[in-house]
Amino acid sequence: MLDRLQRPLRDLRVSVTDRCNLRCPYCMPREVFGTQFRFLPREQLLTFEEITRVVRAAAAHGVAKVRLTGGEPLLRRELERLIEMLARVDGVSDLAMTTNGLLLARHAQRLRDAGLRRVTVSLDALEQDTLRAMSDGPVSPARILDAIEVASGVGLSPVKINMVVRRGVNDHCVADMAARFRHRPEIVRFIEYMDVGSTNGWSAQEVVSASEILKVIGARWPLEPLEPRRPGEVATRYRYRDGAGEIGVIHSVSSPFCGGCSRARLSADGQLFTCLFARQGHDLRGLLRGGAGAGELERRLHEIWTGRADRYSAERAGAREAADQQPPKVEMSYIGG
Ligand code: SAM
Ligand code: SF4
Ligand code: SF4
Repeated sequence: MLDRLQRPLRDLRVSVTDRCNLRCPYCMPREVFGTQFRFLPREQLLTFEEITRVVRAAAAHGVAKVRLTGGEPLLRRELERLIEMLARVDGVSDLAMTTNGLLLARHAQRLRDAGLRRVTVSLDALEQDTLRAMSDGPVSPARILDAIEVASGVGLSPVKINMVVRRGVNDHCVADMAARFRHRPEIVRFIEYMDVGSTNGWSAQEVVSASEILKVIGARWPLEPLEPRRPGEVATRYRYRDGAGEIGVIHSVSSPFCGGCSRARLSADGQLFTCLFARQGHDLRGLLRGGAGAGELERRLHEIWTGRADRYSAERAGAREAADQQPPKVEMSYIGG
């Protein structure tokens, strides 16, 4: 099944909650996501059975990789029950999760036993003050490092580590982060700060480009590019020439990769989005709760995907200019990062 730009559907990211226990200003700024913010009420969230039905339909169309995300996925109660259900879906060979790590140490073994294969843990700095500035919440580097150890220990490996880089906030930590994970199995991915959502006050001046990041790291430890592991991979991989391991950079702003984008996102309330920067989703919850069978769900997915022509990042400059006339882009915490 190909979209209008000949891209297959391979990955599905499933947001299991729009809530989070952090308030990273680049994602859920406290001024917007404060005590008055109305998160989705429970009855609007897809149940585990409903999520599994969507994943089954997506797998029938070629989805092999499913990533649980949010918001913070570990805030969803009994998440391991969903993992068990998804691990049994035919065709799903890779089941992963992205988490801020706060609750990971206590859940890692249960998640692994349920069938989770891999985790990506977000960690934006190794210095306490800088991490607090990046995440605006009760987080310490030691706690997240401990969670990474535990996750590796139970076999959720290799753990990937996401570091969003913001100029003037944590860009001085890039080399430290690289140093900490050299000679280790974990893979750090340095992420360009993106203009997702409509509330983070993004500005291009705050983006540290992948080439700047590579220059800083490469000046200390020479790097060489690695081949992608599979088509449509988000991070571009590099290895240290001295054999100390690999890193990734996610250059969605400076060098967009829409041409190979094979991802769809399912929000916690059952809207399917065909681009991270979408302004509108396609309602699947109505179908699921209206008695649609597997065939009907598969037909709807086919209709949505074959109509897809999204390439926001590739058109970013023009898209931002036209943005004033359009409804706001949906938030990453809702659509799933
Ligand atoms: N709460 C989990 C976490 O932080 O890992 C999962 C959801 S979060 C939205 C997924 C990933 O998106 C995180 O690694 C986060 O750093 C990244 N992210 C959020 N906002 C971003 C932005 N504006 N630019 C780049 N990456 C962003
Ligand atoms: Fe929460 Fe993750 Fe967004 Fe930070 S990046 S606010 S941890 S959802
Ligand atoms: Fe895919 Fe949209 Fe990101 Fe382009 S901007 S890579 S189409 S999610």
